[in-house]
Amino acid sequence: MNAVNRIVLIFVLMALVSGCAELDQGLSKGSDILAPRDYVTGKRELNPISEQDEVQQATQAGESILAEARQRGVAVDTDKEMLLRLQEIMNRIAKVSHRTNLPWEVHLIESPEVNAFTIGGGKIFFYRGAFGGLIDPNNDNEIAAVMAHEIGHVVARHTGKSMGQQLAAKISSKAKKSTGGDLYRASYSTLHEDEADKIGVLYMSLAGYDPTDVPGIWARANKKYGSDPKAHNYAYDHSLNEDRFVKTNTLSVFALSYYKGQGVENADYKTILDSNNLTGKKATEEGSGFAAAIKAAADTYTSHLEAKTEEHKRQGQMQQDKLNAQRLSKVTYKMQNTTTGYKGIFGNIQNLSNNVVKNATVTVLYVNQAGKVVHSEDVLIQNLSILPGQSASWSTLLKNVPGSTGIVVQTSDLTW
Ligand SMILES: [Zn+2]
Repeated sequence: MNAVNRIVLIFVLMALVSGCAELDQGLSKGSDILAPRDYVTGKRELNPISEQDEVQQATQAGESILAEARQRGVAVDTDKEMLLRLQEIMNRIAKVSHRTNLPWEVHLIESPEVNAFTIGGGKIFFYRGAFGGLIDPNNDNEIAAVMAHEIGHVVARHTGKSMGQQLAAKISSKAKKSTGGDLYRASYSTLHEDEADKIGVLYMSLAGYDPTDVPGIWARANKKYGSDPKAHNYAYDHSLNEDRFVKTNTLSVFALSYYKGQGVENADYKTILDSNNLTGKKATEEGSGFAAAIKAAADTYTSHLEAKTEEHKRQGQMQQDKLNAQRLSKVTYKMQNTTTGYKGIFGNIQNLSNNVVKNATVTVLYVNQAGKVVHSEDVLIQNLSILPGQSASWSTLLKNVPGSTGIVVQTSDLTW
């Protein structure tokens, strides 16, 4: 079944929730197909991609990713020693995961991006840049941390769920603008990233990789790349480095009881997968198909609300930061004749906020005797780097605006 048909079926499923007994069996089947139970939490959530399609699509997409890289002259899987290590780490972690029967596959792309990623279906990719840029290539625990995080995304089926979520957001809100935005998508994605971290720390511990090596990765990343939400325009799709350090530090403490030593697989891993301190207790099956359909809609909607809450938090932070910058920055100016004989205005903008100001707009308002604005002119000051407490100069030529007898200067739209 293709994704479009499945989406139509989800609408039908929602519309059919009427409680008729004869529908019940159908709903149960529908729920299993469209909103399967999560491998980790046992909860139902809309997922327009079937598992069969997921594997098939990921296999195809994976092949084209590798073919494209090779076409651009980027080597793939040429470092056999490193590839073997990655495969061994992947196999050990996948074995103790909730989804052992996938065609797991890892590839090493010789490209400088500081990243690793998955496209679902058991396909994982590492860029060479991840080693050295983020993780220590000589430390198996750090490699395992990234590997287990990606395996966490695959097991939780995040790729398909994102599609289900976008659908839920559309169904539950008429305000397209507030649900379709970057901030919402980024907020939703951050929840997935946090979940993958949780699952990842659990899996690596069960497979015999020391979880206390994880927070160090994010402490290092924080030192190197910082944790400024404004650097991402608030649309960061992973927890900020500093936050991730704190979160994984807590997770690693929880996971320590499941870690039995370097290279030692936890013999009780199957029981622990169903109930543990990181991902909680796996929910058991609901009574009927009707209940399952309701539950699927409710769980999907709950995830949507969580993402909305995160989005609102960021919007509040953004507004607060903007207010601070505008309230705390001020402008001074004077007029004089320029060397070429025109009248010019020269000024200073002072940054009294706590942020480094990168761009600012100074608006020159031409007013008449009654104080009414007869013309306004924006002076864009770009590519600045004004540190807190420091100032920068700006200037513009004055125009001969008929009727104007004075000017007023104000700042606006400060960005950083
Ligand atoms: Zn991730």
